[in-house]
Amino acid sequence: MDGLPSVEEVGERLAGIRERIAVVGGRDVTVVGVTKGHPVEVVELAVAAGLTELGENYAQELVAKAADPAARALGPHWHHIGRLQRNKVRLLAPHVALWQTVDRVELVAEIARRAPGAAVLVQVATTGEVGKGGCAAAEVPALVDACGDTGLRVRGLMTVGPTDPEVAPGPGFAEVRRLVDRLGLECCSMGMSDDLEIAVGEGSTMIRIGRALFGPRTA
Ligand SMILES: *Cc1c(COP(=O)(O)O)cnc(C)c1O
Repeated sequence: MDGLPSVEEVGERLAGIRERIAVVGGRDVTVVGVTKGHPVEVVELAVAAGLTELGENYAQELVAKAADPAARALGPHWHHIGRLQRNKVRLLAPHVALWQTVDRVELVAEIARRAPGAAVLVQVATTGEVGKGGCAAAEVPALVDACGDTGLRVRGLMTVGPTDPEVAPGPGFAEVRRLVDRLGLECCSMGMSDDLEIAVGEGSTMIRIGRALFGPRTA
């Protein structure tokens, strides 16, 4: 399998991530293995290493992996973590266990139609960087209400930290955690390979890890 690490390597890296979580005082933090940019064999690898939650950014890639017979037999839960286009919801609906990037009303209606009662996170924009998606913090309560009104189950909120190394991620993560608490939600999905300590320190309950588990992306 070109490029992919061994099961042992992924297992060691996962243990290393759990250690990094523990060092900053994290408890009960779910690790979502982000498999984007890797061939379908990554699914078997991830599950063998102990991951049950897997994330993908692109609809086609998620469906290709989720619908693969061997991968499917392993039964991972798929999270859609990338920017979501309304016209991809129907394709994704049979496969997605958690929609992490709900950031506008038109998505709420479409997910409710194609995947009634589905579990969702509302994505919050916290960095001011364009192209990341997410709604403004001020819009979150209304969007959470809109989800509830259509029967979707809002588990919590999600955000993507800054790409610009000059921007400190802490304040944005803290803001999302405050919103999660204020709205009485549970899940706070924030933190990736490079900023997980800061995210967990600010109260993340779910981190999304790609490179630190599976190495550089090949596609
Ligand atoms: C790619 C991606 C990740 C994983 O990033 P790594 O830096 O590889 O850990 C997590 N969340 C989102 C939204 C992503 O697009």
